[in-house]
Amino acid sequence: MHNRAEAHINLQAISRNVELLKKKSGTDLLAVVKADAYGHGLIEVSKTALLAGADWLGVALPEEAITLRKAGITAPILAWLVPPGSDFQSAVTNNIDIAVSSIVAFKEIALLKGRARIHIEVDTGMTRGGFLDEWQEFLQSDFSTVEVIGFFSHFARADEPGEQQNREQFKRFKEMLAELEAVGVRPPIKHLSNSAATLADHGSALSMVRTGIAMYGLTPDTQMGSSKSLGLIPAMTLRAKLHLVKSVPAGSPVGYGATEKTTRDTHLGVVAMGYADGIPRIARNAGVTFNGERAPIIGRISMDQFVVDLGPHSLAKSGDWVTIFGDEGFSADDWASASGSVNYEIVTRIGPRVPRIYDHG
Ligand SMILES: *Cc1c(COP(=O)(O)O)cnc(C)c1O
Repeated sequence: MHNRAEAHINLQAISRNVELLKKKSGTDLLAVVKADAYGHGLIEVSKTALLAGADWLGVALPEEAITLRKAGITAPILAWLVPPGSDFQSAVTNNIDIAVSSIVAFKEIALLKGRARIHIEVDTGMTRGGFLDEWQEFLQSDFSTVEVIGFFSHFARADEPGEQQNREQFKRFKEMLAELEAVGVRPPIKHLSNSAATLADHGSALSMVRTGIAMYGLTPDTQMGSSKSLGLIPAMTLRAKLHLVKSVPAGSPVGYGATEKTTRDTHLGVVAMGYADGIPRIARNAGVTFNGERAPIIGRISMDQFVVDLGPHSLAKSGDWVTIFGDEGFSADDWASASGSVNYEIVTRIGPRVPRIYDHG
């Protein structure tokens, strides 16, 4: 194997996670595969999720949806980040459902050739996407040239299941749906739950859930429990080669700015990945695992490499593989807490220079 770094994707883990989430929700499941399936690989993950029972695919961008169609995927696909001026016609021609959250976008969509399939997105309290101030005016629209398939919103705090805001958002969702139905529009599919809500709050599953992070085997928030305690199997293991192993004396300054010095005579390993590949430059107190032993980061992360302290007795040699996170040692959650971030960002930012290696299990 000639690679210097690999992201191994366990597709069987994705299947298991989809099965678990479908069972939990008891509804249709939309597999969220935006951003290259959270860095796991759009096409492979989408095919796997559909085989495991996912009913829909969801992406942010229409380009992502078109890539799925070009790969021969015929399942329904929803794209929800489609600002005015987007190529709505290509979306309709490719049989891609479009989320609508502004009047200006709706007007463009209503004029397209072929009836656009739309999902109306409403802002129930997150104050991000979805109709809010334009809602009453939007209700007066002429819906006759489009097909209203879905009605949806998004939770801001589903990873804090006890929060009052969740109940308020659900209540607002039902009120806004009733207002839409009162003008004669009855979308058959209603969806609100993300991974956290699917795992914690069965009352809001409605007719479909939209699950992303949990499908990749990661917890929506460590406060809700670890992946393991939620019954999820992390799908990504990130490995890299040691470009070089060297023995150095105590007191050696390591890396840019000499921010750290070795505290003993030791072996250092130069790991062949850096912030250009998505290793957070700010990370502290994370590291790699070699033969079950943890080696912490020492010094600053560089663009293509970083240094770990393997310890005085390490048997690691130049060219050996280490695990950055995954099936042993550190987890994506460890790297997240080491860099003030969330596991979502850790996996999603693993860059295109890192080949994805699919393990079909
Ligand atoms: C990303 C996204 C999801 C998935 O959220 P997870 O927390 O990863 O399950 C669901 N719905 C929308 C609208 C999203 O943008």
